Amino acid sequence: MEPSIVQGEKLDIWQQRFPLLNKIMATEEVLWINPKNKSYDEAMKKIHITEEEVMEAEARLYRFAPYLAKVFPETIKSKGIIESPLVEISNMKKYMEKSCNINITDKLLLKCDDQLPIAGSIKARGGIYEVLKHAEALATESKLLTKQDDYSILASERYKVFFSDYSIAVGSTGNLGLSIGIISAKIGFKVTVHMSADAKQWKKDLLRSKGVKVVEYTSDYSKAVEEGRKQSEKDLKTHFIDDENSKNLFLGYAVAAYRLKKQLEEMKIKVDENHPLYVYLPCGVGGGPGGVAFGLKLLYRDDVHCYFAEPTHSPCMLIGMMTGLHNKISVQDFGIDNITEADGLAVGRASGFVGKTLEELLSGVFTVEDDKLYILLKKLVDLENIHLEPSALAGMQGPVVLAKNHRIEDFHNKNATHIVWATGGSLVPEEVMKNYYEKGAYLLQKRVTDR
Ligand SMILES: *Cc1c(COP(=O)(O)O)cnc(C)c1O
Repeated sequence: MEPSIVQGEKLDIWQQRFPLLNKIMATEEVLWINPKNKSYDEAMKKIHITEEEVMEAEARLYRFAPYLAKVFPETIKSKGIIESPLVEISNMKKYMEKSCNINITDKLLLKCDDQLPIAGSIKARGGIYEVLKHAEALATESKLLTKQDDYSILASERYKVFFSDYSIAVGSTGNLGLSIGIISAKIGFKVTVHMSADAKQWKKDLLRSKGVKVVEYTSDYSKAVEEGRKQSEKDLKTHFIDDENSKNLFLGYAVAAYRLKKQLEEMKIKVDENHPLYVYLPCGVGGGPGGVAFGLKLLYRDDVHCYFAEPTHSPCMLIGMMTGLHNKISVQDFGIDNITEADGLAVGRASGFVGKTLEELLSGVFTVEDDKLYILLKKLVDLENIHLEPSALAGMQGPVVLAKNHRIEDFHNKNATHIVWATGGSLVPEEVMKNYYEKGAYLLQKRVTDR
């Protein structure tokens, strides 16, 4: 067999340079600590996204709140603000301590983005934000809207007719398509979602029921995005939401940090030099976790430590960051198949934009095998009555992984707070969730008997 060449170098040269690649290529679970991680002040010198831009995004979401409250009744309670609860999961913590033989004396919290209204996943942050921003720009340019207006007027027929002249397109493994499809159809846009082979049937069905055009691909996510991008370029009235490069998606996600800060303050949880915050975020292409991590860094600087979690079969951000090759390489280049049950994370090539932005801000990346996602899914139902989709559990291992690798200096001082970012689940049909649960129960049982 010809030796594989990646970016002009033989594979074994890469393996020598980055010995962790051996384990990654064998799809073993790993923890990678980012050697380029710098202090906030140092890292920010190279980043051209500003706090003002994130605040502008937050202000825009406020302007749209009356509209959202009007057209999505589930957001009336929160006055049109799309936000999720932050809860303590002490039963789960006890279980993880016991089963992994470690001691977590710190607080363990779950950020429940599975409960975000409208789209039931973290995509309700970035995806909805970018569509709203686009709608605002179109209506403003046509002198149909000013920033001073009550945006609930956008719900009227007149605006729907106006927006129906324009299209939105996006490539997705499922959840981004759900979020963009639902909001775009509601506003009145024509919308096309290019779905990779990983996308679950129920997600496609749900979108079609809302009048969204779903184009299916037998290939992975990168191809679906590429096709979507290509087809959209031909049409000036189509806005393509580019998950691999979009700053707007990123800003929409980053707003989460401000909301989280308020929640922590309400819970009287301190974050400062002596009370570090650890955050574990499931990562696909990188926009969601990247945006959230960036926002948190703006607020908490060196007091927050962000880690991404990826499936062992789709570690695209990990290899991209580690090698510094970012989106120039895919996991397939290293013989990894990008086949995972965690559909939200089934991405073989990371966003270069996110990788480069976070290059010196991210603390590290760890990988998790699929079976563990199901076991944790089952346990979280049993112990906390919280129902997540498999992708959303990738971060749960975070405190365990760090503790085992002695990465948490003050783990035993009751000073730190750990937040596992749960990224999706509330729209999963009951029948599908039941299958997930049963699979978790089966795998757990098997593990016990195999011992
Ligand atoms: C999309 C998604 C992620 C990761 O977001 P990226 O922007 O793709 O990195 C994590 N979890 C779930 C459930 C998702 O749908």
